Amino acid sequence: MSVSFQVGRTGNITPVANLEPVYLAGTTVRRATLHNEDQIAMLDLHLNDTVFVEKGGEIIPKIVGVDHSTRNEDNIEIKFISTCPECSTPLVRNEGEANHFCPNYLHCPPQLKGRIEHFISRKAMDIDGLGEETVDLLFSQKLIRTYADLYALKTEQLIPLERMGEKSASNIIKSIRDSLKVPYSRVLYALGIRHVGETIARTIAGRFRTIDELSSASIEALTSVNEIGPKIAASIISFFADADNILIINRLKAYGLRFSAEEEIGPESDRLQGKSILISGIFQKHSRDEYKLIIEKHGGKNVTSLSGNTSYILAGENMGPSKKEKAAELKVPLVDEKDFLKIIGEE
Ligand SMILES: [Zn+2]
Repeated sequence: MSVSFQVGRTGNITPVANLEPVYLAGTTVRRATLHNEDQIAMLDLHLNDTVFVEKGGEIIPKIVGVDHSTRNEDNIEIKFISTCPECSTPLVRNEGEANHFCPNYLHCPPQLKGRIEHFISRKAMDIDGLGEETVDLLFSQKLIRTYADLYALKTEQLIPLERMGEKSASNIIKSIRDSLKVPYSRVLYALGIRHVGETIARTIAGRFRTIDELSSASIEALTSVNEIGPKIAASIISFFADADNILIINRLKAYGLRFSAEEEIGPESDRLQGKSILISGIFQKHSRDEYKLIIEKHGGKNVTSLSGNTSYILAGENMGPSKKEKAAELKVPLVDEKDFLKIIGEE
């Protein structure tokens, strides 16, 4: 067994054990995750050790122990690296955090590329004309360095590239342009702020209605939101304190990306007059908080508990089975997001 260190899009360093291939529960295992420095120390790993591997719920198996009886005198102890394997910047480990990360946010290549890959991913901007390989190619050709550069790309720049051709070039440009319609909460997620996942991004979009409101929010304002702890708040603050990030956001604004929840909510109406609506599950187009506002804007009433007086449930994904059962019992209909958007005239 040997250990290599990978740099993720947020700069996190993940130690990975390279194993002699072993067939385990239906697949051949070649690598196992080691999580962090503490894990390596806890296992007391040495180079070429024979290890015990376990497949848990995760895709990558983990090492649960070392067979000390087979250890050779020459097997040196595995030390965590002190500099980034990709850009040689000294690594940082924040107090209270288990992971080391490379702080070279602006120039570390896997971080730059990783942020673009995250930005175009399905749950973020969903730019499906672009894949990891194309990003690699555009990056190595110096056509893109940040995700804002995507919006400046021109078909003529893409056509001469390897395995590209006119059709795929114009498809890429079209899917980049289509992404301008992606709602604010997903744009927030796409920015790749450390610790801001999909759900947190939706929560944030519900509370801070524009990017300017968010970027000027104090740590107190941020942590007053239930789901935002000090770690997430600090990460948001440091993201917006970075002049380069502000520059990128300003460019994205100029290209027409959505940085406000207001413009997505549309005009007022009385389409939901007299309706008591319960929101349940996870949604694609707007956050739950946005839907609450939308219901009010259209004259409806938000209810938080299900009863015979509930007009219907605005039902997203992952709605709990017990709630579904109760709705069926009370004969309260479910309206999915798509139909609801039709009701309010958004689609
Ligand atoms: Zn680096």
